[in-house]
Amino acid sequence: MAEGWTRRQLLAQATIAAAVYTLDPHELCCGVNAYAQTASAESFELKKVGDGVWAAVAAARYKVNSNAAVIETNDGLVIVDTHSKPSAAQSLYKDIQGVSKKPVKKVINTHFHWDHWQGNQVYAQGNPGLEIIASERTKARMTDPNQTNGGVAFIEKQVASMPAEIDKIKSDIQKAPDAETKARLERNLAQAEGYLAELKTMKPPVPTRTVSNAVTLKEGGREIQLLLLGRAHTDGDLFIYLPKEKVVATGDAVIDWMPFFNDGYPEDWIQTVAAIEKLDVNQVIVGHGDPAPKSHLTYFRGYLTDLIGAVKKASADKMPLDDMKKKIAEDLAPKYEKPMSKYPLGRYRDRIDANVDQVYNKTVKKS
Ligand SMILES: [Zn+2]
Ligand SMILES: [Zn+2]
Repeated sequence: MAEGWTRRQLLAQATIAAAVYTLDPHELCCGVNAYAQTASAESFELKKVGDGVWAAVAAARYKVNSNAAVIETNDGLVIVDTHSKPSAAQSLYKDIQGVSKKPVKKVINTHFHWDHWQGNQVYAQGNPGLEIIASERTKARMTDPNQTNGGVAFIEKQVASMPAEIDKIKSDIQKAPDAETKARLERNLAQAEGYLAELKTMKPPVPTRTVSNAVTLKEGGREIQLLLLGRAHTDGDLFIYLPKEKVVATGDAVIDWMPFFNDGYPEDWIQTVAAIEKLDVNQVIVGHGDPAPKSHLTYFRGYLTDLIGAVKKASADKMPLDDMKKKIAEDLAPKYEKPMSKYPLGRYRDRIDANVDQVYNKTVKKS
């Protein structure tokens, strides 16, 4: 797994190097110099999942970036999700220009989380008249002054909280037990400092168009369906479905890591994934991790179902929460630990306790 990741990173870096070499930087949209220092550290791997359709798979890094979907039409490009910061979007934009130099007509944000939309400005600055689309709920959350985990106000909150996070990494470096840990923490520190610098100046534009029901775009000869299938990872998850190519982009409603429940609706989530499974799809562009076959939808729904079932059963048996965490982690491990620990982030053991906690809070304690 670790070796596989390294190989993938190397490939992605080689792709970027090739793209940078063949491009005139003046063709790029914006701010290339401002982001140059950190842009080179980002990496995406463009994987073709259909004719003119790519999954841009983000390298797993301390400061997480989402995947993107890149859809080419007869007259332009549609990009799904823009990562955590302008330099990441800039880096992917360079890669994209290696496969198509058409203008970006539309950006779609799958949900409001910081790692999926904070690079919007890169595409907006380079493409006058760009339409940015999200669900109505997602835009409402992006513009809610009290929202956590994403949105305009959350950028300021991160600017305020990052110095403490940076101090913590510095202190962990002092206490690092070995050279490998120290080197990893030093890489994290560089990412955290670069991220804070970008947070201070980023101004991602919010969506210019919202949808509250399913919409079919006839975009430059290509059919793109925007589907609201129910609450899942958030209450505004938008699914991007290409019926001809049999591809769906899910945002974080389906990922190849362990799910993140903080803004999620556990029981609704099962139904929503079941609704995606009803679509005629061959390839799933997930929010984090490699594109997956349709069978991953069933597997991922299986995890949600087993986890929620286990929490409810243990609660009915009056098991204390700490015991519940230990028992469920062990009970579900044979089926889920290995497949849910493929990447350096979002692994089974990293998240299972928090998953049990959140599902308990949202499905048992509340009712
Ligand atoms: Zn995400
Ligand atoms: Zn998310």
